[in-house]
Amino acid sequence: MQILVTGGTGYIGSHTVIELIRYGHTPVIVDNLSNSKITALDGIEKISGVRPEFYELDVCDKAALSQVFKTHDFAACIHFAGLKAVGESVRLPLEYYKNNLLSTITLLECMRENGCKCIIFSSSATVYGDPASLPIKEDFPLSTTNPYGTTKLMIERILRDFQFANKECSVTLLRYFNPIGAHPTGLLGEDPNGIPNNLLPVVMKAAKGELTLNVFGNDYDTPDGTGVRDYIHVCDLAAGHTAALKNAGKPGVFVYNLGTGSGFSVLEIINTFERVNGVKVPYVIADRRPGDIAACYADPSKAERELGFKAVHGIEDMCRDAWNYAKDR
Ligand code: NAD
Ligand code: UDP
Repeated sequence: MQILVTGGTGYIGSHTVIELIRYGHTPVIVDNLSNSKITALDGIEKISGVRPEFYELDVCDKAALSQVFKTHDFAACIHFAGLKAVGESVRLPLEYYKNNLLSTITLLECMRENGCKCIIFSSSATVYGDPASLPIKEDFPLSTTNPYGTTKLMIERILRDFQFANKECSVTLLRYFNPIGAHPTGLLGEDPNGIPNNLLPVVMKAAKGELTLNVFGNDYDTPDGTGVRDYIHVCDLAAGHTAALKNAGKPGVFVYNLGTGSGFSVLEIINTFERVNGVKVPYVIADRRPGDIAACYADPSKAERELGFKAVHGIEDMCRDAWNYAKDR
């Protein structure tokens, strides 16, 4: 299948492109390189032997995107393109709403005009807000606490309405838990611009001696008091997308959690990272970060039941592969 991958030079998109090639698909990437580098294509080519076709464009640019649709015959679109930093979204809400919503609407218009009937969308566990119980199932109530999360929830709504009006279409909403790690070859990984906010990129900067990690709170109602999350290896997450393509020919809206079902605390991550990589991660206990919840982990059984998808990498693999990619950068 020819598959349009928006945001395909980004962190999760580039790993998914590898997986698509492995399954014999032909991914075509569009990305405006606002948060990724063209060199991701070199990594993809070295790993897979294939250099996918790439268009540098903004998905909000209807004329440019239409041109790509006229040149190819896409069986499906995987829509990663979007802005994703929670803190930045609080400072720049208009930029987040404009980019994330307009890019999705523009993509849907192009799909409708060109007869492409399948979309897989990158949603997030953030749409569950502060869940009343754990593990989180797909039918839990939805709420958000920041503009980034609200764009995800609004896009889910737009996609549902689009599918209702276009009954032959297949819409899959993938709610990612916490992706970390990198390709085991060390050729692809996460290169966050500026000062990182997510735990693993900060752990790695601390391991390089560039900063001291603040552990945001050790008084949560969790086994060791620090926040618990469901970390999933980015290669497993990528495999979740090829699994989701099983629904490509089925009309409807499909929603899946992509996580492992296991929660790890901040201290467990630090200890595992130190152990598997033989490095020290200097840290101090700091105040809670506003907006954080104590614990969040998935019930991943629906994706296993319906898509045959199950994450296979453990937390050691995630810590090792992340460091293998980042240590010399
Ligand atoms: P990323 O920033 O590495 O990749 C996103 C890509 O989209 C980047 O390459 C960026 O240049 C591109 N992009 C952004 N706006 C664009 C536009 N208007 N036109 C064209 N390209 C555009 O992020 P990622 O971690 O790979 O995340 C991919 C998707 O998954 C995002 O939608 C993100 O919100 C979602 N997600 C990520 C996480 C996470 O922790 N990484 C968790 C849940 C959901
Ligand atoms: N965290 C931390 N210090 C940091 C960054 C994150 O203690 O510098 C904690 C955070 O409080 C949460 C966990 O690590 O408990 C995961 O945070 P991240 O920002 O990576 O993901 P999210 O909050 O989106 O789940």
